[in-house]
Amino acid sequence: MSTIMNTYARFPLTLVRGKGCRVWDDQGRVYLDFIAGIAVNSLGHAHPAMNKALAAQAAEMLHCSNLFHIPKQQQLADRLADLSGLNATFFCNSGAEANEAGIKLVRKHFHDQGSKRRTVISATQSFHGRLLSTLTATGQDKVKIGFDPLPAGFAHVPLNDIEALKLAINDQTAAVLLEPLQGEGGVNIADASYLQAVRQLCDEHGILLMLDEVQTGIGRCGSMFAFELAGIRPDILTLAKGLGGGVPIGALLASDQVAAAFGPGTHGSTFGGNPLSCAAALTVLAEIESENLLANVKQRGEQLRQGLRELASRYDVIKDVRGQGLLNGVELHIEAAPLMLAAREKGLLILMAGPNVLRFLPPLNVSAEEVDEALATVGAVLGGVTG
Ligand SMILES: *Cc1c(COP(=O)(O)O)cnc(C)c1O
Repeated sequence: MSTIMNTYARFPLTLVRGKGCRVWDDQGRVYLDFIAGIAVNSLGHAHPAMNKALAAQAAEMLHCSNLFHIPKQQQLADRLADLSGLNATFFCNSGAEANEAGIKLVRKHFHDQGSKRRTVISATQSFHGRLLSTLTATGQDKVKIGFDPLPAGFAHVPLNDIEALKLAINDQTAAVLLEPLQGEGGVNIADASYLQAVRQLCDEHGILLMLDEVQTGIGRCGSMFAFELAGIRPDILTLAKGLGGGVPIGALLASDQVAAAFGPGTHGSTFGGNPLSCAAALTVLAEIESENLLANVKQRGEQLRQGLRELASRYDVIKDVRGQGLLNGVELHIEAAPLMLAAREKGLLILMAGPNVLRFLPPLNVSAEEVDEALATVGAVLGGVTG
């Protein structure tokens, strides 16, 4: 038997089927899915509209090279432009690829202006992906060890510290790259006032603001994009995870003026934005609208955080409850792994975000009953740990 390279610490569980917010393993056990493929299955599993759209697209055409015009790609770009206010899109296949494309666009933008600005400043504890450029931008040493030499042109500052950013900006600085809410790095919220100040600082210095909304975007935080919550707009935006609802697709968005730096031959992707992935993403966006999912995300998020805060008042192992929409974390005074495991044994799939934080990422169409069920399970787990 061959091996699949050992890059994941996999759970001892084989999921074979899903419906809505539930998944079944190969032993026939059912679980409530508050991982959703790490914020990917926006519409849950086996959504009828998604099944229909994918079957129809498969019957028509799965793939067509980007050497040809692709109508669904144009439709999707139009939708994303309407929603984001950023008029130009490049399609790729993943979050890391979207960020790599964004970093290339930043560099080319300043190159074309005859400027020597090249450095991208990102935040400590951030996560931007596993490519050489994006792991260098990532503000966590653990993803970098063993992969030197790393590319030049990256710097890091602590999140929510505007003075540190002011000190870090110099005549080499090209862009500030941030997650509006750090997902992998511990569910750390970038304050609205901080994001507003960063936007202003970028404008004052003539540098670009690039937001990585690979995890926060497409409704996850209760608005289509998390930047809306701070009342700002980035120059460059990256999307992936929830965009295709489970079909791989990533997107880089930018203003026309910034996007002008990409001409034929400057960047590309064989699969990026193929008809199948665009049909999936169009379905996700259509269902978010027709099912009024942004309202559901806000309400279920409030319900989940309120329930978790009630648990925090009963169990003092909980240090903090925080999040936006349906991207939420519970920081513990103890290790999170045993609680994640105990929840799984009781039929609830949740994730971690660092060693002490439990992370909750249900599908955007999760019901009030399902949130209550998850809260009851977490309560039982906490009772077991502390009682
Ligand atoms: C998951 C994630 C990435 C990487 O996405 P991949 O599709 O795994 O390459 C980048 N940025 C953020 C914020 C993420 O959460």
